[in-house]
Amino acid sequence: MSERMTVLVTGGAGYIGSHMVLALLDAGHTPVIIDDFSTGHEKLVPSGVPLFRGNVGDSALVAEICDSHKIDAVAHFAASIVVPESVADPLKYYVNNTVNTTRFIAACVDAGIKRFVFSSTAAVYGNQDVSPINEGANTQPENPYGSSKLMSEMVLRDSAAATDLSYVILRYFNVAGADPQGRSGQLSQPATHLIKIAVEAAIGKRAAMQVYGTDYPTPDGTCIRDYIHVSDLIAAHMAALSYLQKGGASLLANCGYGHGASVRDVLDVVASVAGKPLDVTDAPRRPGDAAVLVADSTKLRSALGWAPRYDDLRQIVSDALAWERNNS
Ligand code: UDP
Repeated sequence: MSERMTVLVTGGAGYIGSHMVLALLDAGHTPVIIDDFSTGHEKLVPSGVPLFRGNVGDSALVAEICDSHKIDAVAHFAASIVVPESVADPLKYYVNNTVNTTRFIAACVDAGIKRFVFSSTAAVYGNQDVSPINEGANTQPENPYGSSKLMSEMVLRDSAAATDLSYVILRYFNVAGADPQGRSGQLSQPATHLIKIAVEAAIGKRAAMQVYGTDYPTPDGTCIRDYIHVSDLIAAHMAALSYLQKGGASLLANCGYGHGASVRDVLDVVASVAGKPLDVTDAPRRPGDAAVLVADSTKLRSALGWAPRYDDLRQIVSDALAWERNNS
């Protein structure tokens, strides 16, 4: 094991952040959480983990955390993440994602933090002519969520260039599934992400669901996404932390498997894993959705030595389904 680190996990009571906390504990590191509980859940926080309630934009709180714990690195997950909500309420996204993240980066620089892993998103790419998408593609976000994250990336990049902060920016494609040991998973209410909604439908927690858009320029007319198991995504963060710990230079990498599934493919797999048909109706397009988002993850594999363990839609769905069955 690499040298032990104390890692500040923002959004550590949320879906992805809580998986990071578990991975840090599993590897013998010390997580410290800051979460404002806007979407986080106390039940996702393992007992004994230091927990600070508040927003990452609260500079005094961040300074206090850095003073009271010797923070070696930061993993910044806390954000608003729902694409259609960002279209309806863009200012929520620019304030909570861009402004608060900027304040947070400033507080980290002030506290002398040198390693920063940032959760970004494939939404920064928008519609692209080429698939899979590599990191050299032009960024052209289709929605305020993507724009708010892209601006945060710029703040981080420019701040790092002017200080001794180093970063790894991870552009997530579609994160799904749950801890294979059943210790964490998605609790968001109301659910907005496809796999979560589909497993809720499969266990009867909702009566029916809709396919948003069947006239996209894809083989079956529905949007294609690169669904990555949350535990593989977290493995990329752990690799990023070791990379920065060894003095690696700042870098940006996509997180996905390099192949996509359509909305209909996903629903077929959910019905098959659950062993029952879903009640699905076709609906108009949802604003802000790009037709195809598939990652070229060559860089993640080569620069960070990342190799996925759960690159299988059936596994993603069955872990999500098990979590839903045990926690609803
Ligand atoms: N989607 C859908 N029905 C739903 C939820 C999502 O058809 O109830 C579609 C959505 O329009 C998009 C894809 O599933 O094409 C993935 O959406 P999700 O919200 O899971 O992730 P996003 O790609 O927006 O981050």
